[in-house]
Amino acid sequence: MLELQEALAQILAEVPSPAREEVALGEAAGRVAAERLAAPLDLPPFDNSAMDGYAARAADVAAACPEAPVRLRLCGHIAAGESPAQEVLSGTCARLFTGSPMPPGADAVLMQEETRVAPEEPGVVLVLEPVKPGENVRRRGQDAERGAKLVEAGDRLSAGRISLLAAMGRARVLVGRQPVVGLLATGSELREPGQPLGPGQIYESNRPALAVLVRGAGAVPRIFPLVADTPEATRSALAEALAQCNAVVSTGGVSVGELDFVKDALAELGGALKFRRVAIKPGRPFVFGRWRERLLFGLPGNPVSALVTFLLLVRPALLRWQGANEIALPAHPGVLAEPLANAGVHPHFLRVRADAAGQVHSAGLQASHALSSLAAANGLVEVPPRTTLPRSSRVTVMRWE
Ligand code: AMP
Ligand code: MG
Repeated sequence: MLELQEALAQILAEVPSPAREEVALGEAAGRVAAERLAAPLDLPPFDNSAMDGYAARAADVAAACPEAPVRLRLCGHIAAGESPAQEVLSGTCARLFTGSPMPPGADAVLMQEETRVAPEEPGVVLVLEPVKPGENVRRRGQDAERGAKLVEAGDRLSAGRISLLAAMGRARVLVGRQPVVGLLATGSELREPGQPLGPGQIYESNRPALAVLVRGAGAVPRIFPLVADTPEATRSALAEALAQCNAVVSTGGVSVGELDFVKDALAELGGALKFRRVAIKPGRPFVFGRWRERLLFGLPGNPVSALVTFLLLVRPALLRWQGANEIALPAHPGVLAEPLANAGVHPHFLRVRADAAGQVHSAGLQASHALSSLAAANGLVEVPPRTTLPRSSRVTVMRWE
């Protein structure tokens, strides 16, 4: 039986190298940049005001105070988007607004709140406070200088990175192509939500959850119909999904029970089984195989096992497929608010809820079928075999909310 890291290494070794495509920036959220992008211009592109107020010369108002305001003659008005025509000479100022370009001659912006305009003298601004040279001015290139690195190949495009690229004038961006991931749920007991439930039947809950996680990994889920526990149904469903998708994630039908057909179906279709067990809990049975250029991940049917093994072994593969640098779940430090125990012989990934202060609580019943604790959880903590981590232990929480 493979250790987790060995299993992951074998999976990553089978992931095809990322293909690239160009997409509109508006479509790029969550995608993985396939090229390093450098700033084509300075940001901001010109000196501009950080405030609503008046552009002036700091030296002119060095002595200003509320008791003895300095008088400046208003010599211009510059809206955002305009180009300043006139120079600000000593003893004068120009009205401007947040984002207005700085006029020549001025070296600072007086905040509107620190000035007064007397009704009887509309062309004069009374300055109540001094400013330092450069104050309230956003310098050209202060945010990013031309040539600076904006994103690295392998970075995922967050809202912030998309904003930066847009501000640099990028309309399109090269990203890793998204694998299409077929989702199969096997089990004759399963029914679609919305349908009546017969005796012994349960509602299928893995495909919708996995679809969320597939999307979260930047890939495209494709949901296939439920698969009954027969060799024929399993084989034809697998054949269909493998033909249509880059990867297939199935749940159920992978343990040693008599009605576990996924491994056999893969073999009958001419696929290669790479491994079928991983030394982790939950999720010991885990089939990984290959059919032509397509990968098959056969997850256990228990919903907790399916989700945990997806997060540990499938999510990294889908991210690597798109060329992502960071493929592990984000790890955050935490402190146990209660002990976490693992009596078993394999590492146990327990569902936890980390609060805002970093206190880590068990998310509830830690059984492989327990959905309430899955719903309450926002992370996983690995507890080594035959170990109890006492209260107040420092732990690493793998977050997956
Ligand atoms: P299996 O891995 O097929 O032996 O399934 C293990 C347990 O998980 C059984 O109790 C199944 O009924 C349940 N199960 C399997 N697949 C699903 C599913 N898609 N949704 C909800 N429960 C499932
Ligand atoms: Mg089953």
